[in-house]
Amino acid sequence: MIIAIDGSAASGKGTLAKRVAAEFGYDYLDTGALYRAVALRLLNAGANSNKIDEKQAVNAASTLNLLLTQTAEIRTDKVAALASIVAAIGPVRAELLALQRAFAAAPPSGRGAVLDGRDIGTIVLPDANVKFFIDADLDIRAERRTKELLQAEQSVMFRDVLADMKARDDRDRTRSVAPLKAADDAITIDTSKMDASAVVLALALSHIDRVCPSEQ
Ligand code: C5P
Repeated sequence: MIIAIDGSAASGKGTLAKRVAAEFGYDYLDTGALYRAVALRLLNAGANSNKIDEKQAVNAASTLNLLLTQTAEIRTDKVAALASIVAAIGPVRAELLALQRAFAAAPPSGRGAVLDGRDIGTIVLPDANVKFFIDADLDIRAERRTKELLQAEQSVMFRDVLADMKARDDRDRTRSVAPLKAADDAITIDTSKMDASAVVLALALSHIDRVCPSEQ
């Protein structure tokens, strides 16, 4: 059983993906963490977002140490911005594709896999059993992100978070390779007016039950 959850930044897709995986005892892969880890390697090697060496980026992806995806360092907005720049490089995506498909084909639990990202339902796993597309208004997503960063005691301003998120969204939606978009057979959930993640989870579970009744 494979569940694909795509969506925009701070839409709530990661929270949903983790909860769905926990619900069924499936394994979860945060594919954004792969792109973030590649970006962090480049930043640590002195790269800057105005001038990315494509060869270096591909090399960082092909020799990626997955432990890096577990570090707090990848969770900054600076890393996220560079991640969306390297994610537009086709050969970088190609390096990470096999890894994502291998995880889905043989999840450690042997039961099922939930992957979240931007192109899971469209490119990585077009045959996934269930597909979701999670979105919310830009202002609301930026507000959520600002709150999170303030809670983590980072000093940020809403307008900067909003501008960064808009730039990242635009890059993700308009790039020529694997742009962020809903798969034709995905169900879209707009979380703008759903503060409680329990509501989103309940909606998702009822959709999974409709599509794959034996999983409940
Ligand atoms: O999901 P997250 O915000 O951590 O992703 C960081 C960036 O990685 C995204 O803005 C996007 O550019 C890229 N990404 C992608 N494809 C995925 C997952 C993430 O292009 N499947």
